[in-house]
Amino acid sequence: MGMKVVKFGGTSLADAEHFRRVAEIVKADPDRHFVVASAPGKRFKEDVKVTDMLYQCYELVREGKDITDYYEKIKERYNTIIADLGLDFDISGELDYIQNAITHRSGQDFAASRGEYLNSLILAKFLGYDFIDAESVVFFRENGAYDNEKTNEVLSAELKKHQNAVIPGFYGVMPNGTIKTFSRGGSDITGSIVARAAEADLYENWTDVSGCLMADPRIVDNPLPIKTITYRELRELSYMGASVLHEDAIFPVRYAGIPINIRNTNDPAAPGTMIVSGTSEYDSKLVITGIAGKRGFSVINIEKDMMNSEIGFGRRVLDVLEDNDISFEHLPSGVDTMSVIVSSASIKGEAKRERILTSINKRVHPDSVVIEDGLALLAVVGRGMVKAKGTAARVFAAISAADINIRMIDQGSSELNIIVGVEEHDLERALNAIYKEFVK
Ligand code: ASP
Repeated sequence: MGMKVVKFGGTSLADAEHFRRVAEIVKADPDRHFVVASAPGKRFKEDVKVTDMLYQCYELVREGKDITDYYEKIKERYNTIIADLGLDFDISGELDYIQNAITHRSGQDFAASRGEYLNSLILAKFLGYDFIDAESVVFFRENGAYDNEKTNEVLSAELKKHQNAVIPGFYGVMPNGTIKTFSRGGSDITGSIVARAAEADLYENWTDVSGCLMADPRIVDNPLPIKTITYRELRELSYMGASVLHEDAIFPVRYAGIPINIRNTNDPAAPGTMIVSGTSEYDSKLVITGIAGKRGFSVINIEKDMMNSEIGFGRRVLDVLEDNDISFEHLPSGVDTMSVIVSSASIKGEAKRERILTSINKRVHPDSVVIEDGLALLAVVGRGMVKAKGTAARVFAAISAADINIRMIDQGSSELNIIVGVEEHDLERALNAIYKEFVK
């Protein structure tokens, strides 16, 4: 007997048909004891997620408008699911209460959270499972940070009282009793928190894709799925823009060493991607695990003769960044040059840029300091690179064969990733060139 916690995303719970699929998946494995649910997502491309509609209700109230007509659409989404499932379940009291509370300014997070709350009530009823309100088991501190210890203590005690239960994702409670949500996509985090508290053997995260892919399918045609990836590799790829899972969802399960399995509700037979804490296994044919890239970086280039022998030079430059509330991404340097890569958004505005340049001039008296924009970074990630010789050479050869100029190179000492900087307009071609080099 094992213990699995399963989380279903919004598209997996968008309508009655998907509810049925979810029930089939949950009931197919008696180990799937606890289910974390999102709010109903999009049923088709132009559809609106219930969470977005709830945010909109909050906005309307803020503008002093009446929400009755707009709220009708939310009522209809839930009532249609209930009717199509043939459930004998009346949630009109709940719906009215929520409408009233939003109208009386119950706050943005309360409004947004009701999407998961109502969906979980319906799913619990449909599965015949208990309902545990996240409000009574997921806690935030006074400063708004998630309270790991308290949550784990209360939640694990609560879970022990239930054989099977549904828990709404995305929100918890503040010390003063008001509702607070995680950031968007936060039901992934709740799933991870529940998996940890249940001491699960596996956290299954069911979505609408068959796991993580080796590259962004909008850029590379039909990329291969990733069978196994480590938490650290996934962090590297997510940071560079690959997204299947909320970034913060990794921490609770990683702490407890619980693997995550990304699965596809629309293709339950596919094994999906396993995210594990560590493995030395890798596909030796491919060497790399995945690639990802992101635009919107700038370089602060600093030159000074004999920089290398000037003790404290780097620190003084970084002090300037710290004073301006800027975190740096990479720090490639030569004998007499130092380049600081930052996100362009963090140095936006003429005044701020002037301030940074002036302060650097004052603090380290360089021969020159300039800011260059329009940099894209791409990450080639793979635990296999530690053992395979010549991976970096293959990456660079592929990029230069595509006639793309490399503006920066940075390889982490863990040899888990190689970061390459190219012009923004070259990013897509560079990613394709690397993909083709490794996946023939
Ligand atoms: N429903 C929330 C959102 O749209 C949370 C989630 O789906 O994970 O962001």
